[in-house]
Amino acid sequence: MSKAQTEQYDPDDPATWKTLSKVKKGEEISPHSYIELIRHELIQRPVTTNAALLKKIEQVFGNKFGPDDLRRIKSGKRSSRPKWMNNVDWAKAVLTKKGEIAVRSRIRKGKRETWIVLREFAEAVVLEAKLCRGQESAWTEVCGWVLCGKRRKGMRKKCPTCKAWTTLSAKNCDACGHIFKRPNQRVHKLPRNKRGVRNG
Ligand SMILES: [Zn+2]
Repeated sequence: MSKAQTEQYDPDDPATWKTLSKVKKGEEISPHSYIELIRHELIQRPVTTNAALLKKIEQVFGNKFGPDDLRRIKSGKRSSRPKWMNNVDWAKAVLTKKGEIAVRSRIRKGKRETWIVLREFAEAVVLEAKLCRGQESAWTEVCGWVLCGKRRKGMRKKCPTCKAWTTLSAKNCDACGHIFKRPNQRVHKLPRNKRGVRNG
C-alpha cells in the first residue's frame, strides 16, 4: 500500500475545514483521523454524547466524504448506515482499548443515548464525589454509570461466504479461507499540532 496522504486542519476553525480536499473513489478517511478528532473534542468536553461527536465529525468532514465513505452498509437486520460511521466506531473501540475513553449506551424515553467520557476525567469526578459528599457535580451520575459499564468485545466482521465471525483485522476467514476484500486506501485528515493536543 502506498503512503497515506495526510492533510491537517484546525478543529476549532471552520475556515481550515474547507481547505481539506474531497476524498476520492477508492479512498476513505482513516480511523486515525477520527481518533485524533475525538481526542481533541474530549479534551474540551470530557463528558459528551455520541450524537454530539457525530455532529462535529459531520461538520468537519461532511462535504469531504468520498463515495466509499458514504457507501451504505448493513447495520443490524433492517437498517443501513454510511461506512464512515463504522470507522468512527472502530476509532472509539481503539480509544476504549487504550483506556483513554469509556463508552456506554442506554435507552431514555424510547431513544438510545450513548455517552462517551474521557476516562481520566470521569475517574476524577467519581473520586471527588466519594471524598466530598454533597459535592456531586452535574457529571457525577453519568461518569459513575459509564465507568461501571462492561467493556465491549472487540469489533468483528462476518464472512460473506460462510457467515462465520472473525476479528476485524483478519485477512482471510479462519473457517472457510475466504479472502476479504482489500480495504480502501486510507487518507489522514488530522488536527494540527497544538499545545495540549496529542498528535500521533
Ligand atoms: Zn468463511
